[in-house]
Amino acid sequence: MTTLSGKTALVTGSTSGIGLGIALSLAKAGANLILNGFGDASKVIADVAQFGGKVGHHPADVSDPAQIADMIAYAEREFGGIDILVNNAGIQHVAPVDEFPVERWDSIIAINLSSVFHSTRLSLPGMRAKGWGRVINIASVHGMVGSVGKAAYVAAKHGVIGLTKVVALETATTQVTCNAICPGWVLTPLVQKQIDDRAATGIDPQQAQHDLLAEKQPSLEFVTPPQLGELVLFLCSDAGSQVRGAAWNIDGGWLAQ
Ligand code: NAD
Repeated sequence: MTTLSGKTALVTGSTSGIGLGIALSLAKAGANLILNGFGDASKVIADVAQFGGKVGHHPADVSDPAQIADMIAYAEREFGGIDILVNNAGIQHVAPVDEFPVERWDSIIAINLSSVFHSTRLSLPGMRAKGWGRVINIASVHGMVGSVGKAAYVAAKHGVIGLTKVVALETATTQVTCNAICPGWVLTPLVQKQIDDRAATGIDPQQAQHDLLAEKQPSLEFVTPPQLGELVLFLCSDAGSQVRGAAWNIDGGWLAQ
C-alpha cells in the first residue's frame, strides 16, 4: 500500500461524492487532509480524521480566485504546504446551447475549469520547492467526448485536459506530475439529480437509473468513489511517477465505443 504519511493533500469539493471518496483513500494511506466544499463539514472531518492524520477544512468558494488564494495560504500556514492537489470541485447544468443560461455557463467555467488554473498556479511553487508533488484533476469522459445538453460542462472538462497536458510538460523534468482522471457515471448527488430529472417525467426511478447507464456505460454499473481513490493513490506512488499528462478514463467502457 502507498504510504503518504507526512504528505498533505488538498481535495477541492470533498464534502460529498467523489472528492470525499478520494479524501478517505488518501487519509487511509496516511496523508494529512485539507477538505473543501459546501455544507456542514463536521461529520466529514470526523470520518477522514479516523485514520489518524491531521485534518482541516477550508470553506473557499472555488469560483473566486481570492478565496482559492486564501485556502492555499491556509495550507502553507497550518500544514506546511500542499504535496498532493486534487482538483475535484465541479457542478453540472443540462440545457440546449441556445437556451443555456449565461450565468450557469459562467459559473461552470469558473468552478470546473478556472479554479483548476488558480489552485495549480498557486500550489506549484511550493511543490517545486519541496522537490515532489502531484496535481490530479478530476475531469470526466466529457473531457474527451460530448453529450447533448452539456455545453458548459463538456467545454470546461476538455479545457481541464488541455491544461493538464501543459502543466505536465512544464513540470516534466521535475518530481511533480500532473494528470487527469476521466470518470464515467459515478452515483453521487450530481448524477442523482440527473436520474431524478428523468424520473420526474414519469419513468420509474430504477428504470431511469438503468436507462442513464445503458445509454453510455456498457458495464451497466457505476464507477465508485473508492475505485477513483485507488487510482489517485496509484498516481501518487513511485510506480505512477512516469504517468504524465494522461487523461485516464475509468468509465465502464464508455470511451471504448
Ligand atoms: P457532488 O455534487 O457530489 O460533489 C461536488 C463537491 O463540490 C461538493 O463537495 C460541493 O460542495 C463542492 N462544490 C461545488 N461547488 C463548489 C464551489 N464553488 N466551491 C467549492 N466547492 C464546491 O459531485 P461529484 O459527482 O462528486 O463530482 C465531483 C467531480 O467529479 C466534479 O468535478 C464532476 O464534474 C466530476 N465527475 C463526476 C462524475 C459523476 O458521474 N458523478 C463523472 C465524471 C466526473
